[in-house]
Amino acid sequence: MPEALPPGSVIGILGGGQLGRMLAIAAARLGFACHIYEPAAAAPAADVARAWTRAAWEDEAALAAFADGVDVVTYEFENVPVATARFLEARKPVRPGPRALEIARDRLDEKRFLNGLGLTTAPFADIDGPDGIGRAIAATGLPAILKTRRMGYDGKGQVRVASEAEARAALARFGGTAAILEGVVAFNREVSVIGVRGLDGAVVCYDPAENRHEAGILRESRVPAALSRREANDAVLASGRILNALDYVGVIGVEFFAAKNGLYVNEFAPRVHNSGHWTIEACRVDQFQNHIRAIAGWPLGDGARQWDATMTNLIGDACAAWRGLAAEDGVALHLYGKAEVRPGRKMGHVTRLLPRT
Ligand code: AMP
Repeated sequence: MPEALPPGSVIGILGGGQLGRMLAIAAARLGFACHIYEPAAAAPAADVARAWTRAAWEDEAALAAFADGVDVVTYEFENVPVATARFLEARKPVRPGPRALEIARDRLDEKRFLNGLGLTTAPFADIDGPDGIGRAIAATGLPAILKTRRMGYDGKGQVRVASEAEARAALARFGGTAAILEGVVAFNREVSVIGVRGLDGAVVCYDPAENRHEAGILRESRVPAALSRREANDAVLASGRILNALDYVGVIGVEFFAAKNGLYVNEFAPRVHNSGHWTIEACRVDQFQNHIRAIAGWPLGDGARQWDATMTNLIGDACAAWRGLAAEDGVALHLYGKAEVRPGRKMGHVTRLLPRT
């Protein structure tokens, strides 16, 4: 077993959103303290952490001071610049390593990486300008989805197109941003696997969750997902391959489309994942605890599912129902402490448990 960080060590977290908040709470339970690095004016994670550095991702003096004050660095946000992660890596261990960040942030690199592992993705083509659209459509067929290569999340930076003219118009609206075209997968359901790999190479995968999105934003995750044994195994095995190939340390969220002819990997997020929040109540050791265990070099904990569960995000105004939810039997309520309610903003979530079927 590699050297484990003892309790009392300080974990540096890049990004200060709700995922960082839940990581910091998990870290505190194991005796660690957290230091948040977040450029924005508000950081829900900083409310539950020992320290907060508010500085730009490019501020090398601030990054160096941050690195001096922590024992390991992790991230809760996949759009941290790779240069930031590499700068920190020269000073302190960064887990998961920057390569995962580098691949996941670019849809083209990500798909090539996944295909290189023998995993199936939607058909895709790189678009290097308006002249490339015809060739791209020949590869993907229509309808297709035009996506920016970078900075896409919660359905942002993507447009469904039914013709070459629509694709041209959408590309023009992206304003020269690098893009890919993806064939539309006729899926039956969307599922995800939350996997974790320890510093010693041990892997734990949680049961696949079935996810429902609205307007590109995750609305609900359910376990168990309505998958055959074979599909569930395929999803877990694919996640394990990705973890091993990246020599990954920490939690990953892998999203799939389940279709008649098998599983397609949609994308992976090199961090704890919204579709794994149900693990907090439904497993002995949840995704946040296991991420902290992994990056601290501790043995991974038991991820077996004890309950069936439904996790519902509280998006925008939905959080106004907190009084009723707090009074409802069998509801685990989580609120992220965000001062400003905005449409589409994740304000909290609730998990409801049922006996395991
Ligand atoms: P993404 O940001 O790539 O995860 O896409 C957001 C959502 O758009 C997914 O959860 C799917 O519901 C849908 N979507 C994305 N890509 C495809 C695809 N190739 N085929 C069908 N639906 C897709």
